[in-house]
Amino acid sequence: MSGPEFRRFGHEMVDWVADYFERLDDLPVLAAIEPGDLKAKLPAAPPEHGEPMEAIVADIDRLIVPALTHWSHPSFFAYFATSTSGPGILGELLTAAFDNKAMLWRTSPASTELEEVTLDWLRQMMGLDPGMTGIIYDTASVSSMHAIAAARERVEQRIREDGMSGRPDLPLLRIYISEQAHSSIEKGVITLGLGQRALRKIPTDRDFRLDARALAAAIEEDKRAGYLPFCVVATVGTTSTSSIDPVPEIGPICAEHSLWLHVDAAYAGSAAIVPEFRSILAGCDRADSLVTNPHKWLFTPFDLSVLYCRHMDLLKRAFSLVPEYLRTPEQEKVRSGSDYGIQLGRRFRALKLWMVIRYFGHEGLAARIREHCRLADLFAGWVEESRDWELMAPHPLGLVCFRAVPAAVAEKDLDALNETIMHGVNASGRALLSHTRLHDKLTLRLSIGNIRTTEEHVRQVWELLNDQLRRAV
Ligand code: PLP
Repeated sequence: MSGPEFRRFGHEMVDWVADYFERLDDLPVLAAIEPGDLKAKLPAAPPEHGEPMEAIVADIDRLIVPALTHWSHPSFFAYFATSTSGPGILGELLTAAFDNKAMLWRTSPASTELEEVTLDWLRQMMGLDPGMTGIIYDTASVSSMHAIAAARERVEQRIREDGMSGRPDLPLLRIYISEQAHSSIEKGVITLGLGQRALRKIPTDRDFRLDARALAAAIEEDKRAGYLPFCVVATVGTTSTSSIDPVPEIGPICAEHSLWLHVDAAYAGSAAIVPEFRSILAGCDRADSLVTNPHKWLFTPFDLSVLYCRHMDLLKRAFSLVPEYLRTPEQEKVRSGSDYGIQLGRRFRALKLWMVIRYFGHEGLAARIREHCRLADLFAGWVEESRDWELMAPHPLGLVCFRAVPAAVAEKDLDALNETIMHGVNASGRALLSHTRLHDKLTLRLSIGNIRTTEEHVRQVWELLNDQLRRAV
């Protein structure tokens, strides 16, 4: 693509994106296609000869956009609602242009040093301890896996060198999570070869928070059985309900037994930048590591997850391997990203986060998160006031868990009713909700986290829900 061509199509593409955001409200949130529809419309073989850019862009409109579920839509309330933002998108554009592989300091000094500075800014915004050093991975799943690997390194059982199989000398390593923890922790445990048997799930209280007394008892019991407890993962902002585990009680238990405390704040960590929500991280100053996802609630395009770790030396010990062709004269003086994980090349992700933080400022980012929490509170108030609906869990931040409970419908039929309501709302294309199961009851989730969501969008989904309820009973 020649310079003039790139300039022309680049301008057109930026216009296309600006138009996309302007017309998003009118697009169906959930892709209105059947499985296989898109594949059937695409040629099975690659083009032999290059095609004009105009034809490619036309197919984006004709084929790709209808097959998108629009995560950027202001009425996307499913899973954890997230959103990109103008400065974040422009950051991604530059990252693609620079195409740096930030594996060593010298292969991208800008990426390495900007990452260190930007993550220290974020640490300050979240009120985290200065002993915490940040490093970027793609997702929280990967961040947590690396944290568990560092925790495993700390038990000094020569696992890096000798592995875990065929070793009668190695007791069963134990890691503890609550029943509400995200499945990524279990996947990390599987990936690291610890085995699902290593994972002990601790019950939660009525508000879905890890029961610290049950945790202490489980650790004692495991020690008596000859197991080797090594790590506890607490969640600040669980996926189903955004419940916050009692980290101030969990920390001392970890200290007593010398266990690594990892905090999964993938969703809720961003809220800690709002001064009045900072207390959600109470007790995290004792954590050995903590993950937070700016790609969830800090208006940074996917993907960008941050692991804060107090023991970068252990993370490095778990992963660093420097072959001759990667040796550099400055390696003892600088940080090289590839020393801290399984990847060699790393994307220049810090750029977009740096641009987002600079563009909005701490105060601007906090104001938006604060507004999302106000909207969630407003919605929860409507649920509480109505006799046809009930709240299913506390709503400390931007997520509300609720269900329809009209007097005319028996308890045994409420799961089916709520499922019908959710599918009705989602099929309308005007909003997207997701669900979970709480106290064995099908529960609807409304998550507010999109930068374009206004009170009007929240009112609209409330009307849609009530409309679907009227139709269903
Ligand atoms: N942890 C929690 C609490 C989550 O809610 C999620 C995703 O929603 C994850 C981890 C996994 O995030 P990622 O997609 O970045 O791996």
